[in-house]
Amino acid sequence: MLRIASTVRKIGTETAFDVLARAQALQAQGRDVINLGIGQPDFRTPDHIVEAGREALAQGRHGYTPAAGISDLREAVARDLQHRTGAPIDPATVLITPGAKVTMFFAMLMFGERGAEILYPNPGFPIYESAIALSGATPVPYRLSETEGFSFDPDDLLARITPATRLIILNSPANPTGVVPAGQIDRLADGLADHPHVSILSDEIYDRFVYDGYEHRSLLHYEALRDRLILLNGWSKTYAMTGWRLGYSVWPAALFDFAERLAINCYSCPNAAAQYAGLAALDAPQDFVDEMVAAFDERRLLLVDELNAIEGVRCATPRGAFYAFPNIEATGFDSRTLQDKLLNDAGVATISGTSFGAHGEGFLRLSYASSLESIRTAVQRIRAFLEQ
Ligand code: PMP
Repeated sequence: MLRIASTVRKIGTETAFDVLARAQALQAQGRDVINLGIGQPDFRTPDHIVEAGREALAQGRHGYTPAAGISDLREAVARDLQHRTGAPIDPATVLITPGAKVTMFFAMLMFGERGAEILYPNPGFPIYESAIALSGATPVPYRLSETEGFSFDPDDLLARITPATRLIILNSPANPTGVVPAGQIDRLADGLADHPHVSILSDEIYDRFVYDGYEHRSLLHYEALRDRLILLNGWSKTYAMTGWRLGYSVWPAALFDFAERLAINCYSCPNAAAQYAGLAALDAPQDFVDEMVAAFDERRLLLVDELNAIEGVRCATPRGAFYAFPNIEATGFDSRTLQDKLLNDAGVATISGTSFGAHGEGFLRLSYASSLESIRTAVQRIRAFLEQ
């Protein structure tokens, strides 16, 4: 008998990758599958970014870089954040990472251990709970409910803090619900003044994907929280660079050395060519991002309208990210069954709400990072399946 660690037995997964593999296997058999499952832009990485990565390789800039990332890139991230949020950022606190997820692991390793509690959103990005469990800490969910428009209730969240609480994970704009809270964040930030032992991991990876005049409120705005805030972000979504594996985090100055050591222990440094590509992304005009977000906005409105026209489906309008999270209870199917049937019988990949936690039961997540035509066809297929 192999004796693996009990914490490893507790790790979860991101169903989007399972569904992607199943959708691709069906496609390989010649089946026509529209993938609204995985969360990645259907846009290509802009040419000037690809070119910068290619040029770095051609010029021999492919050796190890400093573990925390090349200094030009750390400075560019600090400038970009400062420009967009108004908050002064010291480049010495910016860690460039191989994809954004790594920051979750580092935060859990830093704060999680047996006896510690970490608060996370449910429904929410599944890796939060998984990484908390791996650290040995106790995952403590806070509920996002449809009746509250899926925004967190700051008083409920504050009430869940105990002396054992080490960290609160926040995600705005939110995956899978598309919610962009604002006032609630102010209230939470105020309340945290009474709990100086609690740090915050703010996952802002969808910060550029906001619609209807809504504004993203970065946790960087709250000066009083800066010495206990870890900000997570990256290039994957904003610049259509999911496969390049490039992200970043901003750390409290007192924790940065630990984060850098974790990087050295874990992966030495992020991919060199990807970092030069990431630098080109930040240094060039941002028209690409604006155009992509405008395209997503149009798709968002189409998808929500079409979903609401299906009997048994009710979909709130998401204000951020690129997901719709319709309530499907009245269809008579549970989330997981409907996800599987839509994939196998209707040729549409979606993700069951329960992939994001128990409170996701009764919902499905559909990504609208897909063409208008494929969204139209996908919804027609869903409707035809449900009317059968
Ligand atoms: N946070 C959230 C909320 C996400 O949805 C994702 C990607 N699906 C990530 C982080 C991870 O980003 P990356 O691919 O850069 O690791």
